[in-house]
Amino acid sequence: MSLVIVGSVAFDTIETPRERREKIVGGSGTYCALAASFFTRPKIVGVVGRDFPKEAIELFKKRKIDIGGLKVKEGKTFHWEGRYGCDPNQRTTIRTELNVFEDFKPELPSGYWGADILFLANIDPDMHEPILKQVQKPKLVAMDTIRLWIETKPEALFRELQHVHLFFANDEEIKLLSRETNLIKGGRKLLECGPSIIIVKKGEHGALVFGKEFIFGLPAHPCEEVIDPTGAGDCFAGGFLGYLDKVKDFSGREIRRAAVFGSVLASFAIEDFGIDRLKSLTQGEVEARFRYFKRLVSF
Ligand code: AMP
Repeated sequence: MSLVIVGSVAFDTIETPRERREKIVGGSGTYCALAASFFTRPKIVGVVGRDFPKEAIELFKKRKIDIGGLKVKEGKTFHWEGRYGCDPNQRTTIRTELNVFEDFKPELPSGYWGADILFLANIDPDMHEPILKQVQKPKLVAMDTIRLWIETKPEALFRELQHVHLFFANDEEIKLLSRETNLIKGGRKLLECGPSIIIVKKGEHGALVFGKEFIFGLPAHPCEEVIDPTGAGDCFAGGFLGYLDKVKDFSGREIRRAAVFGSVLASFAIEDFGIDRLKSLTQGEVEARFRYFKRLVSF
């Protein structure tokens, strides 16, 4: 099996009530690929400028992430700035400098065309179609989105939902997109738009997995201090899809386990700024937290 991730590889400037970090490595593709690398050898598709640090590229290589689809272009790397309030679920985008990402036309190397799982991270929905055309027979196509696209390109989002099996969104995005105030109604409504599974990420309240005939809920790892919530959603997707790519099985049982691994990876990402916690994270720690989760929900 193989997992292809198309997303941003970026610099993030992050402000929390306690600290500000300028231009640290981030991006939806970065977080997702690092999280997935605990289960499989993900292939990443994205673009960076010449200013992107060599150490980050070395980290991708060390984690056995295939960077054949990561282009280095003349110019500056995509830069996003976000500010969090005292409630880590409340985030304001201060700045989005697209830079080399502006005219990004994802081209998949031939070795990526046979991907089994394709993940379209929070990229412009108008980019989806040309990417989908390059992948021959994916067994699973998943997408994520952000408020920006819900507000500026809702028609394109609904059009693209018809082409995916799995949709990751947070509770606010589900409500905005479905125009329902009730999450369950909203999830059900979106299930009728194309995807057979919808994963609703609810921050500290865990996640809900909606299928046509089932709902599965799981709590978040109890965390007393969230240092930086950036990338939690992308790590959830990376852990989830990376695990499915490893087990090569999309049954209900494995979907549930994948959701737990998604939650495990997200829970580590928020323990430090940017990708710092993912850098030091070990396989043993991932497995131990999975076992902890099992105990947390057993009754
Ligand atoms: P998350 O916290 O999981 O929602 O994702 C945060 C990541 O999304 C950050 O690392 C940003 O670099 C990235 N990001 C923010 N805005 C955009 C955008 N318009 N397109 C692509 N990636 C973005």
